[in-house]
Amino acid sequence: MRTHTTTTKMIDPVCGMEVDPSTAAAEACHEGTKVFFCAEGCRDAFVANPERYTQPKRKGVWQRFLARMEKATGGKPMKCH
Ligand SMILES: [Zn+2]
Repeated sequence: MRTHTTTTKMIDPVCGMEVDPSTAAAEACHEGTKVFFCAEGCRDAFVANPERYTQPKRKGVWQRFLARMEKATGGKPMKCH
């Protein structure tokens, strides 16, 4: 029996695509939380200007990302450092 298999798809906060963490093309750290991307280009855009994608007032993809993260991790964000 396999343990720790995560099938929940995460959301690329840049383009809104669903990304499978095990096959994500790129990932980055944002305030200690792992963020997954469909492509390196999306990661580069996020890393260059994360505020643009994580503004709380910009309800949208980032909020969906956080909701998905909470669902995937049971409320404990994946630490990446
Ligand atoms: Zn993307």
